[in-house]
Amino acid sequence: MHDAQRIAEDAPGAGLMRRLTGETATIALLEARLAAQERVIAEQAAQLAHSRKIFERASATARIGVWECDLDGEHLRWTDMVYDIFELPRGSAITRETTLALYTPTSRAKLQPVRNRLIEQGIGFSLDVEIVTAKGRHRWMRITATIEHENGVPVRIFGMKQDITEEKILADRTRYLALFDAMTGLANRSQFHDRLEALCANDSDTAIGALLLIDLDGFKPINDRFGHALGDHCLRVVAERLTDVCAGAELVARVGGDEFAVLLASEPAIADRSSRLADRIVTALSEPVLHENATLTLGASIGIAMADGLAPDDLFKRADLALYAAKDAGRGTYRIAE
Ligand code: GH3
Ligand code: MG
Repeated sequence: MHDAQRIAEDAPGAGLMRRLTGETATIALLEARLAAQERVIAEQAAQLAHSRKIFERASATARIGVWECDLDGEHLRWTDMVYDIFELPRGSAITRETTLALYTPTSRAKLQPVRNRLIEQGIGFSLDVEIVTAKGRHRWMRITATIEHENGVPVRIFGMKQDITEEKILADRTRYLALFDAMTGLANRSQFHDRLEALCANDSDTAIGALLLIDLDGFKPINDRFGHALGDHCLRVVAERLTDVCAGAELVARVGGDEFAVLLASEPAIADRSSRLADRIVTALSEPVLHENATLTLGASIGIAMADGLAPDDLFKRADLALYAAKDAGRGTYRIAE
């Protein structure tokens, strides 16, 4: 090394300069790392925001929200959709008591035992409950629940709440249509046959006593003269009258176009009861139906078969033959199968 150079490097301040240069480099490195970390955080925040958006959209589409309840103090937390289901302002103060007050009494009673079982035995549940929202609307909600433990101690229950009102209405409607006649509200043919079979099978407390088959007289001309809509109206009136007159019967059903059936349970003097009932039905159905300016004259014929241990099909056939006999006898009357 030249002397001049050594003098310069050893000069006061040269060490300080070197240190400063080194620290500047360190700061630049730290700043670069910081910037890189900020980029990662920003990317993660963007991903989180995206995930949140997807969750909120999925939650809104499926009408599912998330809920949790701390067991110590029963502090509740909901996502927005749960507030929406209850029609409460999002983020408003909620307590378990005020929430439970929105459940119908039956649903509240169903919830308590499964909640206790969840907390005491850790058994999760899925329960459909009915609520009346803060705005007074009836809704059905599916609650799923599970439990979280810390050091073996149950600390929190959580799960999802889904608005299943539409699904429930559809399921109820499907069930209803499988069992009832949509026009008259009476049991349909399918429910009639199931019930007839069950009663004939003698596997319940009630045994079949008699079957009455009722067919309207001259119903086709009513359709032809007054139109199908008025014909439908007559069928609804007939259903109402039958329901009134046959109160106490096992079942009143519409089994065909203008054909109805009544199932009576076994009892002493069932033949007398059947005849008296048939008389009353003939009288009730011969009352004219008044509709706007029209007076429609109806009538009915009835075939009766006593159960007598017959199989369902045979019983039905016998009642049908008796019905033909009543029609042959001039209509507006009943016949009992021999
Ligand atoms: P009968 O005295 O021999 O019993 O003859 P009817 O004129 O009553 O006719 P029938 O019992 O042979 O046939 C039933 C008629 O009921 C046929 C059809 O025009 C009518 N019908 C069947 N289903 C419906 C319905 O859902 N609505 C209406 N308006 N009419 C129906
Ligand atoms: Mg008829």
